[in-house]
Amino acid sequence: MASEGILVVISGPAGTGKGTVVAKLMEDDGFRLSISATTRAPRGAEQDGVQYHFLTKERFEKLISENGFIEYAQYLDNYYGTPRRPVEQWLGEGRAVILEIEVQGCEKIKKLRPDCISIFIMPPSFEELERRLRNRGTETEDKILRRLARAKEEMPLSEGYDYVVVNDTVDRCAEEIKEIIRKLKAADR
Ligand code: 5GP
Repeated sequence: MASEGILVVISGPAGTGKGTVVAKLMEDDGFRLSISATTRAPRGAEQDGVQYHFLTKERFEKLISENGFIEYAQYLDNYYGTPRRPVEQWLGEGRAVILEIEVQGCEKIKKLRPDCISIFIMPPSFEELERRLRNRGTETEDKILRRLARAKEEMPLSEGYDYVVVNDTVDRCAEEIKEIIRKLKAADR
């Protein structure tokens, strides 16, 4: 994947508010956000082609066999993957491309593109994470508990990331991430 753009991988446990932070980043013209594919069902008001491409397991597995993903992983009971074509195109155009993916996906991207930037978004505390996850009101208790358990496993993995940014407020967190990217661009890595 030769390119001049910057690949920015953003991870963080479910309920950290990383979706809101990423939406804030996207107000900046230079960024492009990869829309992942997933086999999970839409949540709340999510729409196909906006938050995710919602696919059947069969379709997802066909795309895997056609090498359609840069990376894919299983998270809880579903597949999630980054479609290859748009990301390669934007990188070729010199864009900063954001992948909002979980930790296994980040590890795969790092192997493929060691020059990527990885940023882990941390909640201010585990209690706050639980509160945010429950306030979404879109999931069953069982799903909330499984996401919280996964968050406990993921938080120590932040050590493998280039940067850890705390999402205390969305604006401050997004600004810190923009500053990281600005500095790296200026240093012309
Ligand atoms: P959610 O179901 O809450 O939207 O996402 C669950 C997890 O999957 C989140 O940590 C999210 O960042 C991650 N995720 C979303 N898209 C992708 C993807 O394309 N690849 C990987 N590896 N993880 C993803």
